[in-house]
Amino acid sequence: MSKNYVIGFPRIGEKRELKKVLESFWAGDVDFGEVEYVASELKKRHWSYQKKAKVEYISSNDFSYYDNMLDTTILLGAIPKRFQDLEGHEQYFAMARGNKDAVAMEMTKWFNTNYHYIVPEISKDTKFELNSKKVINEFKQAKEHGVNTKINLIGPITYLGLSKSVDNSDTFLHINSVVEQYTKLLEEISSLEENITIQFDEPLFVKDLDSKVLSLIKPAYDKLANVSANIKIAVATYFEHSNEATKILVNTPIWALALDFVYGEKNFDILEDIQASNKVLIAGVVDGRNVWKSNIAKKVKLLEDISKVVNKDNILVSTSCSLLHVPFTLEYEIALDSDIKSWLSFAKEKLVELKLISKLFFKQELTLEDKSSLKSNEEDNKSREESTKIHNKKVQDEILSLKLVQREDAFEDRIKAQREFFKYDDLTTTTIGSFPQTPEIRKNRRDYKTGTILKDEYESNIKDYIDDCISFQESIGLDVLVHGEPERNDMVEYFGELLDGFAFTKNAWVQSYGSRCVKPPLIFGDVSRENPMTVEWIKYAQSKTKKVVKGMLTGPVTILNWSFVRDDKPRNEVAKQIGLAIAKEVDDLQNAGIKMIQVDEAAFKEGYPLRKENISTYEKWAVDNFKLSVSKSKIDTQIHTHMCYSEFNDIIKTIEAMDADVISIETARSGNELLKIFKEVGYKQEVGPGIYDIHSPRVPSVEEMVNQIDALLEVLPKEQLWINPDCGLKTRKWPEVKQSLENMVKAVNIVRENRK
Ligand code: GLN
Ligand code: ZN
Repeated sequence: MSKNYVIGFPRIGEKRELKKVLESFWAGDVDFGEVEYVASELKKRHWSYQKKAKVEYISSNDFSYYDNMLDTTILLGAIPKRFQDLEGHEQYFAMARGNKDAVAMEMTKWFNTNYHYIVPEISKDTKFELNSKKVINEFKQAKEHGVNTKINLIGPITYLGLSKSVDNSDTFLHINSVVEQYTKLLEEISSLEENITIQFDEPLFVKDLDSKVLSLIKPAYDKLANVSANIKIAVATYFEHSNEATKILVNTPIWALALDFVYGEKNFDILEDIQASNKVLIAGVVDGRNVWKSNIAKKVKLLEDISKVVNKDNILVSTSCSLLHVPFTLEYEIALDSDIKSWLSFAKEKLVELKLISKLFFKQELTLEDKSSLKSNEEDNKSREESTKIHNKKVQDEILSLKLVQREDAFEDRIKAQREFFKYDDLTTTTIGSFPQTPEIRKNRRDYKTGTILKDEYESNIKDYIDDCISFQESIGLDVLVHGEPERNDMVEYFGELLDGFAFTKNAWVQSYGSRCVKPPLIFGDVSRENPMTVEWIKYAQSKTKKVVKGMLTGPVTILNWSFVRDDKPRNEVAKQIGLAIAKEVDDLQNAGIKMIQVDEAAFKEGYPLRKENISTYEKWAVDNFKLSVSKSKIDTQIHTHMCYSEFNDIIKTIEAMDADVISIETARSGNELLKIFKEVGYKQEVGPGIYDIHSPRVPSVEEMVNQIDALLEVLPKEQLWINPDCGLKTRKWPEVKQSLENMVKAVNIVRENRK
């Protein structure tokens, strides 16, 4: 018997079949039966893949039509009132996406991944009532398909810990009722089959938990593990170590602990406790979050190190987390550079790695095929270590000899010089960068890529769009203009395509939420910028107006956080190379006469570590690399940055340390309450708190925006304030954008007039 374990498998389908059928269903083109059919075929296929790879512990209930947390809300019957009159898939999708009567439930990031879950809504009156249908059906379906699965469930503590309270009550008040529902579920499950494994996912345990939450663990798992002798319980954590919880769990009657040894090195510190408890250790050694081929020999060594403490018979070999976070398979990457392809491994390929690692670790006999896979693994890893595609001496030397790592002048001197140079007014109006991405500009990019049109035509279409953007902005009287970003499909991909060290795939989609997938760039090697990336477009825009045009770049931390990053170099060093590349672009822009430059850090906060103990290290290098990216800017070159979220309280000092001259932020949806923190800490630099929400098509009235600006002025002085929408306008339609911005400028004029 093989001793391999997979925490979970992606469900969207290797050709995004689930996405496609869901979207056709939502559009009314197919009925729900079709969705069910596709889903069932996908599940069967995914089980077969794992079975073929000799995975012993294959999951059921890792499938979902939309999201596993949402499934858990249905499982536990915690349906918010506004959806209680609906049923079945109508209710399910209304909760996920809203309907004409009810707004959707909130969605938020799953820990530090780019997956988003539907946030449960709990109040003190929430009543839980088990609905076991999906869980039981999936198990039975797998069994009919010849696979005896373990059953994946979100653990009770993680479920409640990630819920939001709608009445400020403590969501953990419900721990007993939730455990009660799970108890009933386990009773039901125990009659299905002999010896069933349940995996409770408790990733909340990798966070810094207070003693109250820790105190819930033992009673919950004592109870659950005692429901039936026929059920073995594994508690799975991932993305970090979970030592505080493990210390408690070893004293409960659970069967196994699944721990992450790729992103949770400190899990090593708890091995003795596990050994003493004689529990099974599911050792997550194959990276479930990144796309690089495992170095099989190193993984076997890692397992051997673990087995110096934990009895080998008690070890299962596993993925570090669900493979949901990596793309499906390399099979369709026919256009990818063959060297790069040989360094990669996606979900399906990782199953084979797992098999090989465990065979070697458990000293099982290798087949000829295994031997040849092992040999290519060695060769591929060696080629990756030595390839000149990856290792660029010039970049490395340049990084080593870096002298200037931040701007030379202090903010006080810079802002004086800048105000003198630009002569801008208080309450200066601007936008965040992008204007609507119309079907025409998308087609223009697509046609150019596929060779349907030539460069001249492509460029002239872009220029037409820029012309329109500039003349529109002038016509409504905006102060600082932008070119509108018509050449960019995405703020990271655009730069990745122009930088060395990045690769792009055809089909490496990863589920982001519901039917939405993203295809992150791969940073495989040393990053460098050979040629300017944005200068021509911005210069063109500037040539069309006497007003200031703001240059538009994406910052190093955001580029890093939205890519699959090489694992043979620390992230901070990769970010440094990107920072240096951006610094060159900033310099080229200012030398071309573009003196106001925005370096977006939309994803700065997304990179925050899960554990407090690691935060200061991240903040330090993230700030340093942002500062490096703008280090070449002269005293009167004004650096803007933009961030897309509104929770600033805990990171305000870090934002200040980034030392941008102007920051635009998202506050529109949260009012000016959030701005108070800027005042409290005595934030000096200039701030553009978004004065309206671009995430909705609604056009805000002039009066509304006057009130909003007045409210901002109660917190910060007019000299410090810029006026802008709260994010880029690319997802909006032109009519809304025109009206909204016109109203915004009118509102500023009224406020300026009133204050004279
Ligand atoms: N400059 C980008 C835009 O306007 C910023 C996008 C973002 O913040 N996500 O689209
Ligand atoms: Zn934004």
